Amino acid sequence: MDMQQHIDSYDFAGKKAIVRVDFNVPLNENFEITDDTRIRAALPTLKKVLQEGGALIIMSHLGRPKGFDEKFSLKHIVNHVSEKLGVPVQFAEDCMKADAQAAALKPGEVLLLENLRYYAEEEGKPRGLGADASDEEKAAAKKAVKESQKEFVKHLASYADCYINDAFGTAHRSHASTALIASYFPDDKMFGYLMEGEIKAIDNVLKNAQHPLTAIIGGSKVSSKLAVLKNLVGKVDNLIIGGGMGYTFIKAQGGEIGCSLHEDDLIPDALEILEEAKKKGVNISLSVKTVAAQKFSNDAETKEFDTHHIAEGWEGMDAAQETIDNWKKIIMDSKTILWNGPVGVFEFPNFAKGTLQIAEALAQATEKGAYTLVGGGDSVAAVTKMGYANKVSYVSTGGGAMLEAIEGKTLPGIAAIQE
Ligand code: AMP
Repeated sequence: MDMQQHIDSYDFAGKKAIVRVDFNVPLNENFEITDDTRIRAALPTLKKVLQEGGALIIMSHLGRPKGFDEKFSLKHIVNHVSEKLGVPVQFAEDCMKADAQAAALKPGEVLLLENLRYYAEEEGKPRGLGADASDEEKAAAKKAVKESQKEFVKHLASYADCYINDAFGTAHRSHASTALIASYFPDDKMFGYLMEGEIKAIDNVLKNAQHPLTAIIGGSKVSSKLAVLKNLVGKVDNLIIGGGMGYTFIKAQGGEIGCSLHEDDLIPDALEILEEAKKKGVNISLSVKTVAAQKFSNDAETKEFDTHHIAEGWEGMDAAQETIDNWKKIIMDSKTILWNGPVGVFEFPNFAKGTLQIAEALAQATEKGAYTLVGGGDSVAAVTKMGYANKVSYVSTGGGAMLEAIEGKTLPGIAAIQE
């Protein structure tokens, strides 16, 4: 039977661990790292293996290369990783040609493999098909890449004695290095600390939540978070829906929303969610007062409206104070809070006020003893900007992966270790 190990009890002495991390960091035009959060997030796991007398083979993707391409080379980050780990890092210029380097690794040594996505086999998707490819050609190309993917995975696995997945950011993808490789280590596979932390945080909200449980879901479109909303309606006590997506709900209720962002084709879904909430006794809280503008720009003149009566030509840009006060009250009365997505056009400082106050409320609720989980680019940016990243319970590192987890999906990268 396959056995999931734990990084704290596994004996790494004299072993080689192949570790999938998410080192997909942003680089500037001089190939310098502009934000090393993802590298720092993997350090506890990497250091643990080295401290216990193991050797590391680190693998990751960077960007979306279509083949070998210097721009997406992980060589640009070797020095930084080395500095952070405090040991030299060797580099394998081709992840499929690292046999000798991997074999020569001694305890405490580190080898970083070149970008896995130089190979189509990592994602298992055919490349180079012309737009005019026939269905037969597409099917044949898909079959070919799936076949060679088996060899690719087997080759990566041959470098090491055990496998650690610490790449939460790609856990929702069923790729060679995130899911498929685990089967080569039936009794020697485990999560890294970052993965473990992310999984626990999600479980704290979806499985073991203390009630009242409140979710604050914002962002631009209902369509991108429809599955999230549908799953949460069955679990939460309060569902705060803010940001651009809120106006589709207001319109569904018969409100006049001016020229605020909305999706007419999602109105039936919005009505279904409202109906479901009513049946289950879930409190859906929408914006009551909106800060609107006549043009989509930071310095636009603003006017406050009842969210159900926004004048023609005006667009809802942020939650007004009365709305925020309602939401703050719900937040402060909750024991568990999940937040994903801004409640206004956060990129414009003049329309970031609502979102920043939500960040503040989460920090206050945490201080009062609530469990708070924050995910998604803008929400994470908001808590970071306010200096609250350490004042909420958990800040998720994986946008897409976290969304899929709160949709209730089983993530392939997690299942591959657990099964
Ligand atoms: P998402 O990626 O779905 O989390 O959405 C984030 C985006 O939602 C940000 O770029 C915000 O500017 C946008 N957003 C939030 N509120 C509004 C709004 N009232 N009108 C237009 N866009 C919004």
